[in-house]
Amino acid sequence: MQYQGVLKKMPTENSEKIQYYLDMGSDFLNVNQLLNKTLDLSFVKYECLNCHLERPIYRQGFCKSCFFDTPRAGDWIMRPELSTAHLGKEDRDLEYEKEMQLQPHIVYLANSSNVKVGVTRKQQVPTRWIDQGAHEAIEIVEVPNRYLAGITEVALKEHVADKTNWRKMLKNDIEDVDLVDWQKKLRPYIPEEVQEYFIENNTETELHFPVHQYPEKPKSLNLVKQGSYTGKLVGIKGQYWIFEDQTVFNVRANEGLVVNISIQ
Ligand SMILES: [Zn+2]
Repeated sequence: MQYQGVLKKMPTENSEKIQYYLDMGSDFLNVNQLLNKTLDLSFVKYECLNCHLERPIYRQGFCKSCFFDTPRAGDWIMRPELSTAHLGKEDRDLEYEKEMQLQPHIVYLANSSNVKVGVTRKQQVPTRWIDQGAHEAIEIVEVPNRYLAGITEVALKEHVADKTNWRKMLKNDIEDVDLVDWQKKLRPYIPEEVQEYFIENNTETELHFPVHQYPEKPKSLNLVKQGSYTGKLVGIKGQYWIFEDQTVFNVRANEGLVVNISIQ
């Protein structure tokens, strides 16, 4: 079986074991079904997710000019505290920004290797947690727009990490913590204007990834540099494919690459 298409973040479905999918244009694959199979991956060319031209990918699946131009890559995406749609102020495209920013957002704690704080649109729960490879997570506040979520994250970052260690996450070098306790401990540091949105009596969500074998020393695959790679898929966690020889491939970080995948 052979497939060719432009890589995009894997859509997921939370069930007993998380289900992962891969949109390969005319084919939609359930990646879980590829576990224990040998995959041949090869880099074909670049294809920007915005202009669809064959241009080197700069960041987030976009070529350089699209990255600095498309409303889908505004600074407020990575830094929610820079959101201005609630003030009616445009960054790149006010209509798009209103649609994305003026909707319920969640500030959460997720534990993938360590506890970290993050922001997501409410409709992206638990997708966002799955993408980060978190085995447990909890919502702290639910606010009506992205700006309020952003300033909460900035305030909490003083007291809890905001990054994950991807190597530890992939090695499953994890520690179970009491996130309900963390949520209570962080409560006093939530900005005053957000205090009314604190979620009381919350419980942890646990997530279960389809991994048969964790790598002890994950090695990251650079498909563009290497051209091609062959390996047996033994797990999927976060947005990573984990292979038997400890090679790992971050699908999300390779958005915009046209690849050929053949399954032996
Ligand atoms: Zn482009």
